[in-house]
Amino acid sequence: MMKSVGFIGWRGMVGSVLLDRMKEEKDFNNIIPIFFSTSQIGSTVPNINSSFINKVLYDAFDISLLQEQDIILTCQGTNYTKKIYDKLRSSGWEGYWIDSSSYLRTRNDSCIVLDPVNYDLIINKINEGFKTFVGGNCTVSLMLLALGGLFNDKLIEWISVATYQAASGAGSKHMFELLKQMNFLSKYIDLDLKNDLSSNILSIDRKVTNLINSDRLPKNNFKVPLVGSLIPWIDKTFSYGISKEEWKGQFETNKILGMDNENLFLIDGICVRISTLRCHSQYFTIKLKHDIHINDIIQIIYNHNKWVKIIPNDSESTISKLNPSVTSGTLDIPIGRIRKLNIGKKYLSAFTVGDQLLWGAAEPIRRMLNILIKQ
Ligand code: NAP
Repeated sequence: MMKSVGFIGWRGMVGSVLLDRMKEEKDFNNIIPIFFSTSQIGSTVPNINSSFINKVLYDAFDISLLQEQDIILTCQGTNYTKKIYDKLRSSGWEGYWIDSSSYLRTRNDSCIVLDPVNYDLIINKINEGFKTFVGGNCTVSLMLLALGGLFNDKLIEWISVATYQAASGAGSKHMFELLKQMNFLSKYIDLDLKNDLSSNILSIDRKVTNLINSDRLPKNNFKVPLVGSLIPWIDKTFSYGISKEEWKGQFETNKILGMDNENLFLIDGICVRISTLRCHSQYFTIKLKHDIHINDIIQIIYNHNKWVKIIPNDSESTISKLNPSVTSGTLDIPIGRIRKLNIGKKYLSAFTVGDQLLWGAAEPIRRMLNILIKQ
């Protein structure tokens, strides 16, 4: 019998990418989709080709309607999960809960899903009776797909990471805000740019810097300018001097890989928001357990999954194939700048880019839904 799947948060960044992928893969043919909303109850449901779909949006806070679903898939965010999850479970609901938010990732009864990396773990957890499956942090999932071969072969002693994360990673309101900041600047410098031969570049620079720092720049969400700037702190403070985004790197990687406390992969670094719209990039310094030939390293990375793409470490390939603009909207995980560092033979550098809305969020939970409906 087809399972009914309740969708919450389908209008946001992750949710709309998820719906597009599900339409592309014809996933709606295999389920009874029921759409909910936290803000637009009674409005029209998204345009999905399914004869089972509900006619208008249902209330995402109505426990009795949620209880009727075999599976709930939410991309609404932590606040929603915090409000509803425990209430629904304590009402006796035993369905599967799939979530893109971080709220349930630390619980012992949840499994973080990234099936090209931890398919066996996912199946074990289903067989053990786990009912809660959560997508991982975007940079963690993208790192594991890029370096999956090295993790699989237990070749990594530690990784130091620097991230370059897009505005849309913080949600649709933040993406709108970056676009508004860009629009605000361009309105004021349009004329200067038309006359570029006669304009003085330093006076344009001063003008832009003043505009970026003025109170008129839209910045309700980011609090500070992102256009023409960057923000080297993402998410809340986890503990003194460490952001929650940075803390997730080691915790989630080890949970996804099912590592016990004695054999943890050590991962730490700094997470930075930059003014790209979509895709997260990451630079890694990796300490390997042994000195391995660079060609073997490349082969191991390449063999791990079909989405990872090795970019030759030369200028032309790097600038044209290893960047957010060519990666955006694709499932590709390009990885390049792979070389041994001067520091020593066990030290490796690598740079990767990935669409944080696809493999970093929507794709693992879409695939998890398919694993569950086949159960
Ligand atoms: P989002 O774009 O802010 O969407 C969340 C909800 O905000 C929507 O479902 C919608 O709910 C509401 N909303 C309000 N104004 C909206 C507008 N103008 N356009 C669209 N939606 C609007 O959040 P998100 O980035 O999808 O993230 C959802 C969860 O996934 C979060 O927990 C996030 O941490 C996690 N996540 C995000 C990413 C990413 O790259 N963005 C990656 C991995 C994980 P209603 O329709 O009910 O009003």
